[in-house]
Amino acid sequence: MMNNNFSKEITNKLNSFFADGRSPHAVLIYGGSEDERYSLARLTAKMIVCGEQDRTPCDTCENCRKADESIHPDIITVTKPEDKKSFVKADVKKVVSEAHLTPNDALKKVYILSEVHLMSEECQNLLLKILEEPPTYTAFVLTSQNANAVIGTVLSRVVRLNLGNASGVEYSQKALDVVSELATAVLSPYEYDKIKATAPLDGNKKLTAEVLELFISFLRDAIALRSGGKALLEDFEAQSKEVSEKLSLGKLLEMYDTVCAIRRSLDNNPNYTLLSAILCVRL
Ligand SMILES: [Zn+2]
Repeated sequence: MMNNNFSKEITNKLNSFFADGRSPHAVLIYGGSEDERYSLARLTAKMIVCGEQDRTPCDTCENCRKADESIHPDIITVTKPEDKKSFVKADVKKVVSEAHLTPNDALKKVYILSEVHLMSEECQNLLLKILEEPPTYTAFVLTSQNANAVIGTVLSRVVRLNLGNASGVEYSQKALDVVSELATAVLSPYEYDKIKATAPLDGNKKLTAEVLELFISFLRDAIALRSGGKALLEDFEAQSKEVSEKLSLGKLLEMYDTVCAIRRSLDNNPNYTLLSAILCVRL
């Protein structure tokens, strides 16, 4: 049986994809654990094949029953072979060509592409062909450890469900607060604001690592927005938008490189209290 114990937030978001009798063409599920992602992918696939308007999954029709028993002929799971490190090109090609075959039982068929962070960029580009112009009767549910592993063009074709931070890492409230302060400080002309924002990092290596990771994702969002893409960190939607509007792309890329370099040097830098000073000066 499936584990349907998802948070109210996830359930609401998932249901919203099916509002007014609609059904999503492509969904990306990311964050959380592999089990959670797969459970949610199966639930999404079940809702697509059920096709019961207003109350999918109805849990009573043949489509729902077969989905629950993992024997639905229109739910096809594709993943990397066990003895390989990543998806095989031939498997992805097969998906692209067979996506045009009509479903057997349901009105729609669903490909679950499980753990696409293990799919090469070349294969993701192959997949893009079908995501751009999918047959009306075919849907795709992708799962990935994190959304950043998915190429931008694929990202722009999917609706997203975020189960939480990648690999089960939960950012602490403290880290979220510091990054929020930093995001404000980078727009300030005053050095003092930057010093103040990075002050909590002094002497706290764990927090520094966390903040740097998060701030890198934040900057990646700002760069994506600046280049016409989408932001991924829901906690910082407004701030990444503001930063992307007020700073040039050149400045954003420079900051990104700086913070990435500081992150790389953190592990072998015994003098990490200095990092906040460097961060301050170079932002
Ligand atoms: Zn049903």
